Amino acid sequence: MATPDHPFLHLAAPHIAGLTPYVPGKPLSELERELGIGAAVKLASNENPLGCGEAAQAAFRDCSADLGLYPDGGAFALRRAIAEHHGLDPAQVTVGNGSNDVLDLVARTFLQPGVESVFSEHAFAVYPIATQAVGATARVARARDYGHDLDAMAALVGERTRVVWIANPNNPTGTWLGAGPLRAFLQGLPPQVIAVVDEAYFEYVEAPDYPDTSRWLTDFPNLIVTRTFAKVHGLAALRVGYGLSHPAVAELMNRVRHPFNVNAPAQAAAAAALGDRAHVRRSVDHNRAEMARVTAGLADLGLDYIPSVCNFVTADLGRPVGPVDAALLRRGVICRPVANYGLPNHLRISIGLRHENARLLTALAEVLRG
Ligand SMILES: *Cc1c(COP(=O)(O)O)cnc(C)c1O
Repeated sequence: MATPDHPFLHLAAPHIAGLTPYVPGKPLSELERELGIGAAVKLASNENPLGCGEAAQAAFRDCSADLGLYPDGGAFALRRAIAEHHGLDPAQVTVGNGSNDVLDLVARTFLQPGVESVFSEHAFAVYPIATQAVGATARVARARDYGHDLDAMAALVGERTRVVWIANPNNPTGTWLGAGPLRAFLQGLPPQVIAVVDEAYFEYVEAPDYPDTSRWLTDFPNLIVTRTFAKVHGLAALRVGYGLSHPAVAELMNRVRHPFNVNAPAQAAAAAALGDRAHVRRSVDHNRAEMARVTAGLADLGLDYIPSVCNFVTADLGRPVGPVDAALLRRGVICRPVANYGLPNHLRISIGLRHENARLLTALAEVLRG
């Protein structure tokens, strides 16, 4: 029905009318404008505080003379670089406008009304949105210790299941699955189910039993592994990610992919970033050291947090997050409340530069003292 505040709602497909949009972190410029200050700190979107490396920046700059030309719609050079990086064939690589785009391609290719996807409570918000956007039904498994409970997920897999989404590690909890349990879970999936393992934080993870599932593609033809250039590579602004899969799965997703979904500077910068191992190492080293400082600071404040292998940590404030978040914003610190993930008392904090983290801890101490 047309309502005064939304005159076109009745025209939208029912599954679209019921969608809640993804809520991104507040942009720095917006908060600075609101507060009339010039130096807010954003620890809300799990970006790399070091930005991207020199090689990626140079590749980006080199594109500036050719902005009148369409990008390579097949992303030939980038797909070849990704394939070489993983020891796979370029036909197994699907590029996306961020890995979010790849997740959407999975949904548009394999989901439709009448079929189901399975994911965990507290899992990345894009899985329910991608599922509902194509009219499929979401089945949500209870989490265990904030992480994916693979037994609970397996119990929801049935005849109508077409996609299982696994975030390893997961955002916003920072939890991860070891090789043994994940492999056993994949082995138990029926053949009509596509398993997506979302490895957006792959490079940050230093847990010894953490698997590189891109090496499992020959064992599991129904597996899609996704990676992104937005996190450790520091290219969030450019929107590039990719999926690795069986070539026939990639070929299907390629049918619905927008022909120029990854722009030319993004393709060039991403290929350069992939070869810049020094920048990845620097970024991971920085994250390890600052994660230790931030978690020690949270413990000093008497706060529990979910142990994280990512570039963010999610703290349990022991009280509703809204007022704390508002008070932090007034002090020029943007974090991410995760009440919309079923965690009403939790605040996700991206690991920033040392002075940014110090500012967060100082502001948090002030706010909690009241
Ligand atoms: C950030 C993130 C992504 C991908 O983001 P893009 O910027 O679209 O590449 C995917 N999955 C998880 C779990 C993430 O946190």
